[in-house]
Amino acid sequence: MSQKGTINVAVENIFPLIKKFLYSDHEIFLRELISNATDATLKLQHLARIGEAKVELGEQQIEVKIDKEAKTLHIIDQGLGMTEDEVQKYINEVAFSGAEEFLEKYKDTAKDSGIIGHFGLGFYSAFMVADKVDIITKSFKDEPAVHWSCDGSPNYTIEPADKTDFGTEIVLHISDDELEFLEESRITELLNKYNKFMPVPIKFGMKTETLPKPDDAKEEDPAPTQEVDNIINNPNPAWTKQPADLEDQDYKNFYRELYPMQFEEPLFNIHLNVDYPFNLTGILYFPKMTQDLNVQKDRIQLYQNQVYVTDNVEGIVPEFLTMLRGVIDSPDIPLNVSRSYLQADGAVKKISSYITRKVADKLKSLFNEDRAAFEEKWNDIKIVIEYGMLSEEKFFEKADKFALYPTVNGSYYTWDELIEKIKPTQTDKDDKTVVLYTSNREAQHSYVNAASDKGYEVLLLDSPIVSHLMQKLESSKENVSFVRVDADHIDNLIKKDEDQISKLSDEEKESLQKTITDTISDASYTVQVEAMSSDSAPFIITQPEFMRRMKE
Ligand code: ADP
Ligand code: MG
Repeated sequence: MSQKGTINVAVENIFPLIKKFLYSDHEIFLRELISNATDATLKLQHLARIGEAKVELGEQQIEVKIDKEAKTLHIIDQGLGMTEDEVQKYINEVAFSGAEEFLEKYKDTAKDSGIIGHFGLGFYSAFMVADKVDIITKSFKDEPAVHWSCDGSPNYTIEPADKTDFGTEIVLHISDDELEFLEESRITELLNKYNKFMPVPIKFGMKTETLPKPDDAKEEDPAPTQEVDNIINNPNPAWTKQPADLEDQDYKNFYRELYPMQFEEPLFNIHLNVDYPFNLTGILYFPKMTQDLNVQKDRIQLYQNQVYVTDNVEGIVPEFLTMLRGVIDSPDIPLNVSRSYLQADGAVKKISSYITRKVADKLKSLFNEDRAAFEEKWNDIKIVIEYGMLSEEKFFEKADKFALYPTVNGSYYTWDELIEKIKPTQTDKDDKTVVLYTSNREAQHSYVNAASDKGYEVLLLDSPIVSHLMQKLESSKENVSFVRVDADHIDNLIKKDEDQISKLSDEEKESLQKTITDTISDASYTVQVEAMSSDSAPFIITQPEFMRRMKE
């Protein structure tokens, strides 16, 4: 006989679970409550716009307040508020999201409204830091205000309140082991981290503003000051604007806003802006890449509807671009999911390849628009580009048109230019085009000079991953081989300069060669006594390219 039943979820058991495991970081309660306050404000603005709410909206803001004596933290908004029925529905039903319901109901008009909420769990994160939570709320609809109160057990009380303006105040009675959340500095830190670019102004205390001196002020008169609201956020960050509305300086200013401790200017920026097939905005910056990349702390920040989520963008941004800085913002990135899921997610894959394409296109246009400036920046950006060429085939195809190969003489060639230039003189017996390079110009300078004297081009390739890039180029290009300037292969090049006649006789050459060979006593080296220009050595010692690579 079969039986059917309903699994009974006892709420007594859920609370401790939420408290412990919902979020690993207690501090995110503030982000969640400010997100709700923001949603409430945006919803009311939306309803007013479409005529469903007949209210006068002033400059709405959210206020965060600490009352140290009462050990309470307050989050106050002027949003749409809740009626008693709505409190019953949205608050008392765990995991029922009023945000989702709103988006569903107003899906034709509200899809770009920036509503943040999603899962219907955010509010309960308050109990990670509070013993007791009060909600005092009044709906914009003409209904009495209510006061809901809950001490973290499944029992709550609900009673009339005397609040007269619409909006909601959340009061957290901070528990004794979370007292840090009553410290002004700690709250400032959190607001700066999570809420710095949220769309509704957030007030935290007051600050003193210096005013311009009146015209008739004396030199020694202090400038007048006034107390103003301390608004901690910029509700309209650069990435939410249209690229056409921004100047170069706006991008630089925003970089400073994002990374106040960064004193170097970024090299250039890339504004991301798509809404189909997924929604993504953002600004990426290329910093100077000269510093140690392993200790990079100013990383790309991921936002969702202007709420900071993380600076670990692994899996969302292709790995070679994680060295960049800036922000990306997308409501379409699933957040509360594991990283391995992220990597397999179709939308995330599309986002990642979109970013790759945009970066490649931007580099291409910088190259086309001002080649000299691009060459100047090459040293600072080459690691990212070379790394990208190695790791993403699509990027390789695009970068192949603008990646530069600098020579020891200070010229910069694209791949096609390079091959065209060297093909006539640097082809070996097997008909391969030989790309000569040095990785250390000082150490190999006599070889470099010798090759230059023969009219060969020598590339200066010194970035840490360039040997991998050479292999990649050898395998994807037809008939080329990279040969370090001190390899013996250089003698196989067909065209040699016949003008230089050695001043040594053949016997002299032979005996000199023997003496040096004996001295080295390593069979993998070849000694040649050659005609050289006056500032070079009279002989060179070479080794086959493969022997050298083997030893490395
Ligand atoms: P979510 O934001 O994902 O919908 P939450 O648990 O954060 O879920 O909040 C549950 C619901 O409670 C919200 O969807 C909203 O309807 C209501 N709510 C929470 N905070 C407020 C607020 N400050 N003003 C109005 N309604 C709120
Ligand atoms: Mg929420």
